[in-house]
Amino acid sequence: MYKVVVIGSGWSGCAAALAAKKAGARVTMVEKTDLILGLGNVGGIMRNNGRFTAAEENIALGASELFAITDKLSRHVNVDFPGHAHASLYDVVKVEPHVRRFLLEQGIEIRTIARAVDVVMDETAAASGKKILKAVVLADGTEIEGDVFVECTGSTGPMGNCLAYGNGCCMCILRCPAFGPRVSITQKAGLNDVMGQRKDGAFGAFSGSGKLEKSSLSDEIQKDLNEKGVAVIPLPPEQVVKEKLDLKVCQQYALEEFADNIVLLDTGYAKIMTPFFPIEKLRRVPGFENARYVDPYAGGKGNSIRYLSVAERDNNMKVLGVENLLCGGEKSGLFVGHTEAISTGTLAGYNAARFLAGMRPLELPPQLAVGDLISFANQQIKTKDGLMTRYTFAGAEYFERMKEKGLYSTDPQVIRKRAKKYDLAGIYNEKIL
Ligand SMILES: Cc1cc2nc3c(=O)[nH]c(=O)nc-3n(C[C@H](O)[C@H](O)[C@H](O)COP(=O)(O)OP(=O)(O)OC[C@H]3O[C@@H](n4cnc5c(N)ncnc54)[C@H](O)[C@@H]3O)c2cc1C
Repeated sequence: MYKVVVIGSGWSGCAAALAAKKAGARVTMVEKTDLILGLGNVGGIMRNNGRFTAAEENIALGASELFAITDKLSRHVNVDFPGHAHASLYDVVKVEPHVRRFLLEQGIEIRTIARAVDVVMDETAAASGKKILKAVVLADGTEIEGDVFVECTGSTGPMGNCLAYGNGCCMCILRCPAFGPRVSITQKAGLNDVMGQRKDGAFGAFSGSGKLEKSSLSDEIQKDLNEKGVAVIPLPPEQVVKEKLDLKVCQQYALEEFADNIVLLDTGYAKIMTPFFPIEKLRRVPGFENARYVDPYAGGKGNSIRYLSVAERDNNMKVLGVENLLCGGEKSGLFVGHTEAISTGTLAGYNAARFLAGMRPLELPPQLAVGDLISFANQQIKTKDGLMTRYTFAGAEYFERMKEKGLYSTDPQVIRKRAKKYDLAGIYNEKIL
């Protein structure tokens, strides 16, 4: 049986592994840390704004399983918070083992504490000017051979990037000091990665939220979070720092309300919607006198730096310049979000199987939200302004575009009809190998 090797097990890697497995391939997924799901262990917001449409679209195309898990584990549904409607908040404390068990049950081989540090290229192909991957090499020297590879290593870290472009290692969930730095497989294969920028031209961007231990907050805030899923606490005027909005990865949250208030969401922890907040200042806000960060551990000082390692790809998710390498998630564009990672990862995994079957790869049409996001982000990344933009169904420029193009809908029937119209309903459920 043909083998697909997925490198990195965030939401995009999990989605790619699942899609390739469902299509009939043998799949091994390697992950550098001891947890799968990557940034999925610290996020939690789903189905806000256009992400609702995208989730339902993936379900209509046949990629329902991961959304079923996040829906089942939602602590709150239909939550509105500034600039965002109908969000679901999954429990970040519970999600990882659920996804891991599910993928293992599907027969996917998962290797954790397995950091890919290099590649083995096919020498015969190289002699004729082609790049074909034969294997990835793990930190312990093991070679994992495959017929096709999907890179889903994300864009967070390594520590050097957090030092050079941020406030140092803030001890995020990816835990580079313990498990080793992120390694770009495209770079190891001899390609150059694209680097995202901030508005001022600096490279990379700070992650836009952290987590506080809920029990360290006042009873009143805890009650609001547990009952409503959201708490909006006005900041004293001297504490408002508008410039922080420009630092954020998450341009969908770069709204005045997020500078004037502390916006908290209940994802198991109290998710604080700001890149970082010095602990002494935070403790001066009523209700936060005992506040404590649980993620990133140094959330009072900084946050992780992302978007410095994007592969050049086509709209089928194939990396340009390597014959048998695809990519998904943040590796495949300046995308923000779990839904975006699942959408791109699923297409990459599915097309990995089509590649093995000798079939033409699937390109989703721009009449579908996922197809449009993938092609729009690809086109924009080639422009200077495009490098300073992040692409998400949840807000900012892309959500506006969704609305203008009539792609945004909260009616699952309408979304299912669209998938049918383009003869794509259930396509991700087809066994092709
Ligand atoms: C603090 C924070 C909060 C967020 N909150 C939300 C939210 O609420 N809702 C939302 O939709 N989005 C949220 N996001 C954004 C979202 O989490 C990401 O955009 C998305 O999950 C990225 O998925 P990914 O698979 O592309 O990458 P990642 O999740 O970064 O996964 C990459 C994986 O690859 C592994 N890896 C890297 N290099 C190697 C290697 N060489 N070998 C093996 N493994 C490797 C990493 O350890 C990691 O597990 C948040 C992000 C952060 C940082």
